[in-house]
Amino acid sequence: MTGRFAPSPTGPLHLGNLRTALLAWLLARANGEPFLVRMEDLDRVTSSVEHERRQLADLAAIGLDWDGPVVRQSERFDRYHAAIDALTEQGLTYECYCTRREIREAARAPHGPDLTYPGTCRDLTAAQRAARRRERPAALRLRAPAEPITVEDGLAGSYTAVPDDVVLRRNDGVPAYNLAVVVDDAAQGVTTVVRGDDLLGSTPRQILLQRLLGLPTPTYVHVPLVVGTDGERLAKRHGAVTLEDLAGVPVERIVGALAASLGLVPEGTAVTAGELLDDFDLARVAARGRSPVPLADLQRSWA
Ligand code: GLU
Repeated sequence: MTGRFAPSPTGPLHLGNLRTALLAWLLARANGEPFLVRMEDLDRVTSSVEHERRQLADLAAIGLDWDGPVVRQSERFDRYHAAIDALTEQGLTYECYCTRREIREAARAPHGPDLTYPGTCRDLTAAQRAARRRERPAALRLRAPAEPITVEDGLAGSYTAVPDDVVLRRNDGVPAYNLAVVVDDAAQGVTTVVRGDDLLGSTPRQILLQRLLGLPTPTYVHVPLVVGTDGERLAKRHGAVTLEDLAGVPVERIVGALAASLGLVPEGTAVTAGELLDDFDLARVAARGRSPVPLADLQRSWA
């Protein structure tokens, strides 16, 4: 078995990211298994090596280690394009010219950021395509069969959705996240994916891509997010959410707060990541339930 943590180097890791990373590391290392770090820097505009450097330093600072060199998605575009070509050869892709706004307006049941594509460009005629192509560059989408896919998640339980026609290549030519993550997890031999709850909704799409590409499906563990007082997922504006913000707080208190919020130790415990390995049990994390973690619950530990 192999675990991983796959941050996007678009800013500093916050306590929610660190909490997910800690759990991913514990799950792998408690069983003596490999643990990988992959930088999801597909978007060269928002990613930077400086963020990457800091993220790795922060992971090390809370006591996490990883095997082998850190893989960067920006260096693996050839693999993603090959996978997209394989799907195209099976007749499973089509060009899409929609803007986000057009999709939002056309979607019958728009819900949240996880917008379901209504299939606008799916069955255009050749003439319609030629006309649309003159207006703007095309993205490439998967022609998904309308079949439900169920994820049996280690924390979230059973989740079923019908995957929509997910974007495989953005209209700037950059491979899309859902495609890249599937290609990489398989290429790196990842068997256990631990990540934020916000990606549970995309997991059926990823499982569909795995099946169409003949790749294995890993075990999924989606971790509840840390949220601010406004109930929104953690962000810079919530204040005191990165290790840099918390300079002066002993790292054992921070790790202890993360571990307490995972149900692994009593609140107020100071502990190292290594010490948590001894009696780690995912069942204790599951027993804590699926509700988001208020930032204030973490902050109490060093207030
Ligand atoms: N790079 C994604 C993020 O930082 C995580 C993707 C994944 O773990 O599959 O939100």
